Amino acid sequence: MTVLASGSKGNSTVIASARTRVLVDAGLSCRELLRRMKMANEDPCALDAILITHEHVDHVAGLSVMARKLRIPVYFSEPTHRAWVRQMTPRTTMSYAQWLDHVQKEKEARTAQEAAQSDLEVQSGGIQIAAASIEEEDEPEVAAKRDPASLPAVEYFQPGTSFCIGDLTIAPFTTPHDAADPCGFVFESVTESIRMAIATDLGYMPPNVRSALQCIDVLLLESNHDLEMLKEGPYPWAVKQRVLSRVGHLSNDATAEFLTRDYDGNATYIVLGHLSETNNVPELALLSAEEAIRERGKLLGNRVLLAQQAEPLASICL
Ligand SMILES: [Zn+2]
Ligand SMILES: [Zn+2]
Repeated sequence: MTVLASGSKGNSTVIASARTRVLVDAGLSCRELLRRMKMANEDPCALDAILITHEHVDHVAGLSVMARKLRIPVYFSEPTHRAWVRQMTPRTTMSYAQWLDHVQKEKEARTAQEAAQSDLEVQSGGIQIAAASIEEEDEPEVAAKRDPASLPAVEYFQPGTSFCIGDLTIAPFTTPHDAADPCGFVFESVTESIRMAIATDLGYMPPNVRSALQCIDVLLLESNHDLEMLKEGPYPWAVKQRVLSRVGHLSNDATAEFLTRDYDGNATYIVLGHLSETNNVPELALLSAEEAIRERGKLLGNRVLLAQQAEPLASICL
């Protein structure tokens, strides 16, 4: 696991087995993601796919450019993909008459294009020319101009149903969060019998998440805010309510409570992530998790790390 960025301003993590490499979320610009992958000695060209937890901008900011540049498929749940497409499609309002006119013009343009295409093919014994023009059409930036939500390929998964990419088995689980169909993931490398999990952006720890997080070797877990800092802090009341709600984010206390009461102690590494820059201090999050673990003698072997917003965390290899 290589956490490229974690926090309210952008999230992205590489999960890799011996044969398969996926990027979970792309919440920084493509340029910044590539820069961080280089810093972390990760080869972008080795990525097999991008997986998306939910459509909030801190998880998808660089998604379209990154996927088009690397020409790799993106895995979403269907409602998340739909919400993302809506987000990416600029809204225009037009009258019914304008819309009819627009449809007519598009139709004419298509007909003209088809006519020109077949002319070309006839004139110059065409297969090569036809192929060249298809390639041109496929150029990522041309496609992007036509449709900002265009992606090389889209695959759907359903939270609650496992799927495979290469030698990784991926179990997406539903998380309580204010997005279309948010989820976390458990990754299992079949050949190496290692399990890693990502659970951020959740308002509380429901039973399905607690059971998904059993027998995990490396656990990236949210520790978003300190309750006092959030309450006293600068956020408007409505935003405070949103963060605190059952579909908001896990506080340091909620994370500590999970570690004390429900966590099975199996992880070699617990990585605290998605810290709020405004309402948390890394030392507080770390202290709170370490205290929770210290209460349980058998967990002393667990190492607690802090994922960073500003730079990649050194790769965790098992
Ligand atoms: Zn979110
Ligand atoms: Zn988030």
